[in-house]
Amino acid sequence: MILEIDEIHIKHDRETGLIAIIALDKVNEYGACIGGTRFMPYQSIEKAIEDAVCLAKAMSLKTRLGDLNLSGGKAVLMKPKVITDKVAYLKTFGRFVESLNGKFITGCDSGTIEEDIKIMASETQYVSGLSTTHGRDDMSYFTALGVTSAMQAAVKIKFGNDALKDLRVLITGIGKVGYYLAHTLHQLGCKLILSDIVSERAKLCADQLGAEHIEPENIYDIDYEIFAPCALGKIFTASNVDKIPAEIICGSANNQLENKAIDQTLYDHNICYIPDFIASMGGVVYAAKRYFGAPFSEVENYISSHVYSLTKDVCTMSKKQKIPTSFIAQQLATNIGQGRL
Ligand code: NAD
Repeated sequence: MILEIDEIHIKHDRETGLIAIIALDKVNEYGACIGGTRFMPYQSIEKAIEDAVCLAKAMSLKTRLGDLNLSGGKAVLMKPKVITDKVAYLKTFGRFVESLNGKFITGCDSGTIEEDIKIMASETQYVSGLSTTHGRDDMSYFTALGVTSAMQAAVKIKFGNDALKDLRVLITGIGKVGYYLAHTLHQLGCKLILSDIVSERAKLCADQLGAEHIEPENIYDIDYEIFAPCALGKIFTASNVDKIPAEIICGSANNQLENKAIDQTLYDHNICYIPDFIASMGGVVYAAKRYFGAPFSEVENYISSHVYSLTKDVCTMSKKQKIPTSFIAQQLATNIGQGRL
């Protein structure tokens, strides 16, 4: 795979075991990139770099379509087998972020929690998206809010009515976003089926909400109208696309399609796929707007209305032009970028 990106910064610290990669896409457009910090095991540094680059590029699509005056970036921390001092590890990473002098602004992502970001924040001013609401991880909450708005718009286009009540929704990945999404959709009257590779997470949430629980290997054996993938990427592949029973796919997981051709296949199967960089933009919109000092309520309204109308426009254009949604959305992002040159 050929990787093209403006900047990659790598830090190895023997003492703490930190191996961190920060990828910055289109850094000169605004002088700063925003994106979360991911913490997970990787088979090799090449795989970690590839992930950071792909994720940073996906962040640029979100920042452009979210009209955020920042470009996309991503940090990947290669999770070691053992960390003897996690606080020292995170502080070392915080100093690495600080050393970039504001070129990279970060927050939570898969594998990191708010407490981690607060530790990093003791060493760097370039973090955003921390909670203001007691007891709630606001960034993941706002990501889930954006997924809900995108889902409502998709339902409106597909079924002619934006009420989610009584629709069967499968959520895979009951982590930070999946958990909030499950609670929000439950309040809207959806019939939920929850799944996680850590079964206990899905079971616990299903028990709280009176929802169904299913093991990940069985998700293609049951019926549901909406599939909300909220775990990791590259889940839709040439070998499983025929098995998807859903009419709508709308979830927070980044880079959901194994390759670009899958979007066309989903379109050919009459599945309305909401590009992940639209469905999951709520978190980065929250982090960027708060970084620039926007009031909390303004951010909440912006996420709901912006994600809803963007999704509606993309789905409408896709229907009219008979072109897959990702292609339309990428085109929109490119046009916005060219408009800024
Ligand atoms: P998380 O680490 O808190 O949760 C992910 C969950 O998915 C975990 O419970 C994990 O056990 C589960 N999982 C992993 N592989 C699975 C599989 N194959 N099947 C079922 N479950 C599986 O992560 P998160 O912060 O909730 O993010 C979820 C996704 O959304 C990630 O792809 C992330 O990049 C993306 N995202 C998150 C945010 C945010 O605000 N947290 C913002 C934008 C995008």
